[in-house]
Amino acid sequence: MRHFPIFLELHGCTALVLGDGEVAARKAEPLRAAGAIVKLRRHFDPADLDGCAIAIGADAEESELQALSEAARARGIPVNVVDRPALCSYITPATIDRDPITIAVSSAGTAPVLARLIRARIEASIPPAYGRLAALAERFKARIRTALPDLAQRRRVLETLLTGRAADLVFAGRDEEAADIFAATLDGAEPSGGMVFLVGAGPGAADLLTLRAQRLLGEADVIVHDRLVGEALDMGRRDAERIYVGKQRANHCLQQEDINALLVRLAREGRKVVRLKGGDPFVFGRGGEEAEALAEAGVPFEVVPGVTAALACAAQAGVPLTHRAAARSVTFLTGHTKEGRLDVDFAPLVRLGGTLAVYMGVVSLPQLRDGLIGHGLDPATPAMLIERGGTDRQRELRGTLDLLVEQGPGWSTQGPTLVLIGTAVGRGGHHPASVLEMSA
Ligand code: SAH
Repeated sequence: MRHFPIFLELHGCTALVLGDGEVAARKAEPLRAAGAIVKLRRHFDPADLDGCAIAIGADAEESELQALSEAARARGIPVNVVDRPALCSYITPATIDRDPITIAVSSAGTAPVLARLIRARIEASIPPAYGRLAALAERFKARIRTALPDLAQRRRVLETLLTGRAADLVFAGRDEEAADIFAATLDGAEPSGGMVFLVGAGPGAADLLTLRAQRLLGEADVIVHDRLVGEALDMGRRDAERIYVGKQRANHCLQQEDINALLVRLAREGRKVVRLKGGDPFVFGRGGEEAEALAEAGVPFEVVPGVTAALACAAQAGVPLTHRAAARSVTFLTGHTKEGRLDVDFAPLVRLGGTLAVYMGVVSLPQLRDGLIGHGLDPATPAMLIERGGTDRQRELRGTLDLLVEQGPGWSTQGPTLVLIGTAVGRGGHHPASVLEMSA
């Protein structure tokens, strides 16, 4: 270890900052945030160090920075001169502020950029709510000490509280429910049950997961997943149980009621359950039914949104779903048929004149075309199929509804496919070639 890390108590202490530019102002900020009284000086006068607990040299003359460093060291005052390691008696780390939690990362001045990258990674995995979790623990500190005088036992109980359901509730912004669990646990109540997270996995690429989804996947005891969850599944702990409950058109390997019952049972066993769904759980994902079943069973749950197929497909295909000149609305609809019939009210869709994103629409393409054109949609309206959108295997077929009906079946390789229809589909900044293809 190159340096000895410490956190300084600076409340009410004086800090000298030498410099009169932007750097000095930037250096003064965290000192003030930590409660210090900052003395900003343009020129160095040794008397300025009187009563100072810390000193920083920023944008000042070289000779003055040297004098500051020497004088401060001679008086045993910690001193840092920006970008001049030789003049420093301490270095400033890259920090993450989750007050009262503070995380500091240092490369001992060898690679500050790397330290900042590491900070970004840690920052992503420690949500801001950790500060509130720490505050909750502080609120119960005295009660915890009294209720659990034995240190080992106290540590065990605290670990459970700070990683279990109480913590999850704080991260979901439900601090008072978390406080109830702290209180019940200290009163000797039974350990609390688990919790279920209905998590959107996005379109399949791991880096289109949300940070929240990534964190929960890394914490889950069990992951209950569908077919379309892609790389997100690899984000789970190696020892997490994975239960495949399938979801393929006309081939559900578990009935929805069985999935609901499974989620309830797993949570009641006290486990942290991630129910991982492709895209967003509340967009044609039956997340609503699962949420209702959990609520009915009294199992706490949280819904974590994901990038839904329409957004991922449009982004990667360069299609603006709305455009001031072409589409003032976007509609997500399902092309799922019941007994071969597509139950859609076409007239208002055509009247809206916006973009239509049809999920599960490939099979019903002929009915979509007939319905839309039959209700007045211009047959020349641009339309496209996007298969495996948002992944590195995305494929596109552009044309009109007629063309898609004709060529779609032969073109498809059976991957999940979205249908996009509307004037805006013919636009898009970074795919001029396909726009040409359209007008040809
Ligand atoms: N909850 C999901 C949708 C599930 S319904 C979401 O929000 O995206 C399943 C349908 O979604 C598929 O039939 C297909 O129409 C569409 N879909 C899902 N992933 C897709 C992808 N990567 N590319 C294109 N369409 C996709």
